[in-house]
Amino acid sequence: MSDHCLFCRIVAGEIPAEVVRRENGMVAFNDINPKTPVHVLVIPERHVDSLAGVEGLTPEERSDMLAFIAAVARDHDLEGTGYRVTTNHGEDGRQSVHHLHWHVMGGTRMSDMM
Ligand code: 5GP
Ligand code: ZN
Repeated sequence: MSDHCLFCRIVAGEIPAEVVRRENGMVAFNDINPKTPVHVLVIPERHVDSLAGVEGLTPEERSDMLAFIAAVARDHDLEGTGYRVTTNHGEDGRQSVHHLHWHVMGGTRMSDMM
């Protein structure tokens, strides 16, 4: 836990968020500035800076994270219509919060751009 990390503070309950699922050391909450009708952020409770630091998570956490992402999409009834999962790293990736997070987006047709 980093005192200065926004998402660690959400994990700790110090900053409010609309949590939609929480289990196995993972938390999902609605993005504060949704780009699509469903725009959920999935994070591991344990801090790693980005996907580049994924080896800081245990093999079990990494595996749970994938299953958890799929469960969030299922919770939002996105399996039939489809969804997109992305994570950003670094400047070219336009990462703005430096705690690994996955954008789970759906409810509309995505652009070809991403
Ligand atoms: P990134 O650009 O790092 O991939 O994505 C960061 C995401 O976090 C953005 O989509 C942004 O809207 C979201 N975000 C930033 N601050 C907060 C916050 O305080 N609460 C929530 N729920 N989302 C946030
Ligand atoms: Zn953090």
